[in-house]
Amino acid sequence: MRLLLIEDEEVLGRMTSESLVQSGFTVDWFDTGSAGSAAAHAHDYDVILLDLGLPDMPGEAVMEQLRAVRSTTPVIVLTARGQVEDRVAMLDLGADDYLVKPFAMTELCARIRAVKRRVSAGADHNDMLKVGPLELFRNTRSARWKGNPVTITAKEFDLLEALVVRRPAVVSREKLEEAIYGWGEEVESNAVDVYIHFLRRKFSPGLIVTIRGKGYQIGNEELLLLEARRPAAGASQ
Ligand code: CA
Repeated sequence: MRLLLIEDEEVLGRMTSESLVQSGFTVDWFDTGSAGSAAAHAHDYDVILLDLGLPDMPGEAVMEQLRAVRSTTPVIVLTARGQVEDRVAMLDLGADDYLVKPFAMTELCARIRAVKRRVSAGADHNDMLKVGPLELFRNTRSARWKGNPVTITAKEFDLLEALVVRRPAVVSREKLEEAIYGWGEEVESNAVDVYIHFLRRKFSPGLIVTIRGKGYQIGNEELLLLEARRPAAGASQ
């Protein structure tokens, strides 16, 4: 299970990530809200642990950014604030659970497993993204078109998912590069064009629309449905 830890206090951050690693989790630890949000853009985490008191932006703003890109990833808020109103506000913003500092590591581990179980129980619902004839399954990172499985690579899946979760917004090339490349990976020029070319060929030319000078957008749902009803090119009539 891969966790994203966003915590600015160095000792607490190191202790928390070390004990989580000892408990068998993989942990990416960032100490600012902006770095944490960027990591959430780039990788699919099982659970996100968010400290509310960060130096660069309010916890509420980080929470909103996380929800914008990872609408179904469970978020556990770690807070020193004991006020009931703060906790209610975080839950309203979409946090799945919270722990008040100081907390026991055993309790944190138990909470992580509990939110993950809750999400997995509803996986059929939460993990499937659908646009017309296109279905994306986040748990298996696979895709179907008109009900038929389509083989796609991990990077093709990431790119498609980035477009689908933001629909109907136009997504810039930079955002798509962030979605398909991990930290420290070298971005190949034209990679986005190449993946989009393959995706259009595998699914439908109208799957991804180029908006000149702005970026890319997932095709209009009704048009994709119309396109899917037409017989495939080369199919016998
Ligand atoms: Ca803090």
